[in-house]
Amino acid sequence: MSTAGPVRPLAYLNHNSHQEKQLATESLTWVDQREQMLLAPFAMFSNQSRGRIHPETEHAYRGPFQRDRDRILHSSAYRRLSGKMQVFTGEMGDYHRTRLTHTQEVATIARTIGRAMGLNEDLIEALALMHDIGHPPYGHAGEDALNECAANFGGFSHNQFALTIATELEFRFNEFSGLNLTHEVLTGQTCRIDKEKTDQRPLLEVQLVDAADSTTYDAHDTDDAIKLGLVTLEEMESLEIIRESISHVRQHYTSLNEELMRKAVVHRLIERQVTALITYCGGELQSRDFANAGDAMNSDFLIGHNAELGEQKQELERFLYARVYRHPRLVTVRQRGQAHLKEMYERYCQSPELFPQKYQARAEKIGIRRMAIEYIAGMTDRFCEDVHQEIVLQS
Ligand code: MG
Repeated sequence: MSTAGPVRPLAYLNHNSHQEKQLATESLTWVDQREQMLLAPFAMFSNQSRGRIHPETEHAYRGPFQRDRDRILHSSAYRRLSGKMQVFTGEMGDYHRTRLTHTQEVATIARTIGRAMGLNEDLIEALALMHDIGHPPYGHAGEDALNECAANFGGFSHNQFALTIATELEFRFNEFSGLNLTHEVLTGQTCRIDKEKTDQRPLLEVQLVDAADSTTYDAHDTDDAIKLGLVTLEEMESLEIIRESISHVRQHYTSLNEELMRKAVVHRLIERQVTALITYCGGELQSRDFANAGDAMNSDFLIGHNAELGEQKQELERFLYARVYRHPRLVTVRQRGQAHLKEMYERYCQSPELFPQKYQARAEKIGIRRMAIEYIAGMTDRFCEDVHQEIVLQS
C-alpha cells in the first residue's frame, strides 16, 4: 500500500548549532551525547531527570528511562497482561488483542510518533509499557466491579493501581519494595489518575502516549469487532473516518478480499492518525519553539488531533461504545465476570486466611478489604476463574 507523503523527522530540523557546541565543549555521557544529537530541545532529556526515590549510580550504557522500561518489561505485572482481556475475552477466540498486545501496539505507535517529533523514545516506551499494568481481570468491567466493592475506602482505579504496583508490590531490591522508577515515569502515571484534579501538567512524552493509546484502541477495536462478526465494515461505512479509510484503500487497490480489505482499512486508520499527529502537533511544536521540556509542559499546548479528525474519532468511539462494547455477547461475559469478582471479594473479606501466606503481612498493613481488592486486581482472567471455582463454587 502506498503511504501519505513522507514526514521529515522533526528531530533533524531541531538539531542546531547550540547543541553542536554543547557536544564539543561539555563532558557528556554516551547516553547524553546520543540524546543531544537526536532529541528536540523540548524533549525530556535523561540528564534533566529528577531521579529516583532511592538514588542509584548511573548505568554504563543504559539511560535512566531505558532502565525504567526494562524494569517494567521484566516485572511480573507486565507479564500477566498476556492473560488479561482488552475488550474481548479468551473464550471468543485467539485472534483479538489482549492487554499485552494492546500495550505493545501503543508502545510501537508512540515510538514512531515520538521519534518523528524528536521526543525521548526511551521515556515514551517506559510510559507506554506501564500504562495498563494496573488493569484487573475483565478490563474496565472488572475495574467497575472492584470500584464498587471499594466504594467505602477509596475506590479502585487501574491507573492508581499501576502506581501501587510500581512503588509497592513489585520486588526486585533487597532494601525496599517497588521498581524505584524515575520521577518522570511515576508522575506520568500520576497524571493519568485524575486528569481533571491534578495540578501536574504532563510532559509531552506523557501526552503522546495518551494520544497513541487512543489511536491504537480505535483501530484495533474496529479490527477485532469486524473479525469477530459483531459489526460489519459496511455498517461502519456510515462513519466518516471509516468512509475515508475505505475510499483511500480503493484508490490503491481495485480488488481486495474481505480480510485484506479489513486489514487495509485498519492500517489506514492508524497511518492517518499517526501522520496527522506528526504534522499537526509537530508543526505547532516547531512554531512555538519551546526552549526545553518544562516550557512545553507549562504552556497551553497539548498533543492532540485537529478539530476535524478529533470529531471523526469521537464519532467512531460513540459507535464502538454503542455497537461493540455494549454488544450482547460482551455484556453477558462482562456481567458474569463482575459477579465473580464481587463474590471473590466477599469471600476473601470473610476468610482472609485464603490469601497466600506471602500476602498476610501486607493484609495486616493495608487491611483485609484493601488486600482483597489488590489480590484480585493482580489476577489474570483465567487464574481469576480458577480461584473463583475453588473458593466460591467449591467452598
Ligand atoms: Mg491502554
